[in-house]
Amino acid sequence: MPRLSAYRYSHFVPSVLLLVAGLAAAYVRDLNVFFTSLFNVLPTLVLLLGGAYCAVYRRQRELFLMVTVYIAYFLLDTQTDHYRDNGKVREDAAVIFHLCCLLLPLLYGLYGAWQERTHLLQDMVARFAVLLAVGSVALGLEQSFPQALLNWLADIRWPALHGQWMSLIQLAYPVFALMFVLLGVQYVRSPRPLHAAQLVGLAGLFWMLPKTFILPFTLNIMCSQVMLMIAAAVAHEGYQMAFRDELTGLPGRRALNERLQRLGRNYVIAMSDVDHFKRFNDTHGHDVGDQVLRLVASKLGKIGGGGRAYRYGGEEFALVFAGKTLEECLPHLEVVRGVIAAYVIHLRDPDRPVDDQQGRQRRGASGASQVSVTISIGVAERQLEQRSPEEVIKAADQALYAAKGAGRNCVIAQGQNRRGAIRTKAA
Ligand code: GH3
Ligand code: MG
Ligand code: MG
Repeated sequence: MPRLSAYRYSHFVPSVLLLVAGLAAAYVRDLNVFFTSLFNVLPTLVLLLGGAYCAVYRRQRELFLMVTVYIAYFLLDTQTDHYRDNGKVREDAAVIFHLCCLLLPLLYGLYGAWQERTHLLQDMVARFAVLLAVGSVALGLEQSFPQALLNWLADIRWPALHGQWMSLIQLAYPVFALMFVLLGVQYVRSPRPLHAAQLVGLAGLFWMLPKTFILPFTLNIMCSQVMLMIAAAVAHEGYQMAFRDELTGLPGRRALNERLQRLGRNYVIAMSDVDHFKRFNDTHGHDVGDQVLRLVASKLGKIGGGGRAYRYGGEEFALVFAGKTLEECLPHLEVVRGVIAAYVIHLRDPDRPVDDQQGRQRRGASGASQVSVTISIGVAERQLEQRSPEEVIKAADQALYAAKGAGRNCVIAQGQNRRGAIRTKAA
């Protein structure tokens, strides 16, 4: 069965673009006044706008991720400003820098992996308590035992690993590695734009920290970019919610309506509907029905001939072929109909033995847990007198109705009668 949410490159695209733009900007040596002023205010601006955006959408996890990045930025920026103005670092620079190198990935990974589950207010209080506890312990130690803390942080614990490549304290590396694994596993288990952005953001922070005092404005730029990645991921997910159907992963009705506005003069629209689906649901249950809808959607999503599949609603799907003629589309529709009809779905038996081999034997023996579905398709090409795509959809709907009347599991084109149906009905 296809997964509910699949890995997509597009999950990573906005974050990777922001990362690359950040890297490129950080290496520009001579910035003019406009950019220096911009980079000075950018992190605060991004936090305010992005934070407000997350707050409006009640995305606390993202808000706390941004706040964590901003706090690290604020602490380090004080240090880099002093260094830039005086030509030497402040007394507490080393201990603050090392603390940031340790706590930034720790808190970032923790908040990133911490899903919002409980009541909103409780969730916010819990996240805030963690931030407060970690912050106050770190501050208390830094104020009371600065030298001891610095020694502990900078201690070389694994001399064999200490090499030229290590530009942060040793402790920062296992923390970063752990958080990469944690956030990586999170993306694999639940592929979402936000989970992708968190991973890329962590990579940005890992690159940024060693360059904090070396490249001017690295800190401002990369912290802004990481916060932007998170805000962009929230926007990306909002877009997906509006335009993608959650069950099947196909674009939904709203996306179809948008597509219909930009179709041009020649196009073909096919409407497809799962046959006897109500009966299927009644026999096998709604959950199995959902799985079958996902399967049908995944097959329709792969239709050839430049067709694009949309979930129209319920168990109905629309297929849009822009710039095509009926003759060009019919073979592809026939192929997808045949593929779905020929696909045997193995249902999981609730009493199935834990042992996979045994389970396979039993399933093979009884045959009771194998099912299949068919779809009927009605298709219409835009005619000169049809002014709007809705009229073409209506014509395709009528053809679909005719396909149902012709015995289902077939493709019927607009204006065709029952006998003209292209059909290879499964036995
Ligand atoms: P026909 O061959 O004439 O299309 O018969 P049908 O039973 O498929 O017709 P009808 O349109 O009356 O039934 C559609 C059924 O699809 C009703 C509903 O139970 C089911 N359905 C609609 N949306 C979903 C969904 O998201 N998940 C599941 N499991 N079932 C759905
Ligand atoms: Mg149906
Ligand atoms: Mg229907």
